[in-house]
Amino acid sequence: MAIQTPAIEVENLVRQFGDVFALDHVSVSIRKGEFFSLLGPSGCGKTTLLRCIGGLDIPDEGVIRIDGTDAREIPAHKRPVNTVFQSYALFPHLTVRGNIAFGLQMKKVAKPEIEERVKRVMDMVQIAKLADRKPAQLSGGQKQRVALARAIVNEPSVLLLDEPLGALDLKLRKELQIELLALQRRLGITFVYVTHDQEEALVMSDRIAVMRAGKIEQMGEAEALYENPRTRYVSTFLGSCNLLEATVRQRTPTGAVVQTTVGELRVEGSIPDRNKFTLAIRPEKVALCAPGESAGENRIKVKVVEVIYIGSETHYVLKAGEQPLSAEAMNVKVGHQGFDIGQDAVVHLPAAGLLVLDD
Ligand code: ATP
Repeated sequence: MAIQTPAIEVENLVRQFGDVFALDHVSVSIRKGEFFSLLGPSGCGKTTLLRCIGGLDIPDEGVIRIDGTDAREIPAHKRPVNTVFQSYALFPHLTVRGNIAFGLQMKKVAKPEIEERVKRVMDMVQIAKLADRKPAQLSGGQKQRVALARAIVNEPSVLLLDEPLGALDLKLRKELQIELLALQRRLGITFVYVTHDQEEALVMSDRIAVMRAGKIEQMGEAEALYENPRTRYVSTFLGSCNLLEATVRQRTPTGAVVQTTVGELRVEGSIPDRNKFTLAIRPEKVALCAPGESAGENRIKVKVVEVIYIGSETHYVLKAGEQPLSAEAMNVKVGHQGFDIGQDAVVHLPAAGLLVLDD
């Protein structure tokens, strides 16, 4: 099978502002038709990377290839790439229709074709009824749809989205996430999506790159990244994790037995050569049981310190001696879920859920 040219290839990209490396030798290859997210806290370089790909900023070092062509050979306005900003950046004096048509008019596309294409994208993002309104007469969610329509109408092969849902309230944001994902699947356009919201990245993305201080710390498919974070940073930025310092007591054919602050634990999988490392376990993999009913290995006595009921699930803050542990459980039982503050209980840390981190 022929290997498809990536939509975007970034190689060793550097962008420096004074002493700050906004991008510190970043390399990434984004496949055609992929929903790819750049995830990280404020200031980690997400927007800078997007701006360099879009031609709005020029890297100090490194190469960007768009559909196999060196981006330095393509001026920003000719790149098959469009950007949707959080701020919408709509023209206030133009109607919705005018805003969407603007780019095509600049490119001197024939009038009937503009009309046809503008109508089609307005239908697609469900704003046909708003065609004659000005941006000031629109809600945040409606403005976001117009911004999206204005980008899609150019039929770009890559759409760059910089926190496009950041200004919207949670409910609308969740609705638009699903719509945006459906639209992306339907159009087959490559989406490069910037967000600092880990849940949003997990919901939307085929693959995620987690960024930290100008570098990509880990990259992978959403599920693989969540299930197998390699560093403390990724394990706690993408979801939350219990972290336990471990010292190897015995190496076994399937892993090791380690000493931790919560007692001896059996760990599965490949164990590093060093004798000390950090173990991570997701709160939902920590199985909380009443003292008598516990099954499985790696059992630890705990006290329930806090119970946070959030409807479909409950979060528990536990203490194993002095070591805090968090556990999360779906509330599948009818009625009281069974654990109260101050209660003694047992947790079971399944060996397969204990991850060995690199740092
Ligand atoms: P946010 O989520 O807040 O937008 P980000 O991850 O997108 O953050 P960038 O905007 O890419 O981060 O910024 C990366 C770093 O580069 C930051 O430390 C920022 O202060 C710095 N930076 C970005 N643009 C400039 C500029 N034009 N001049 C000076 N420093 C800049």
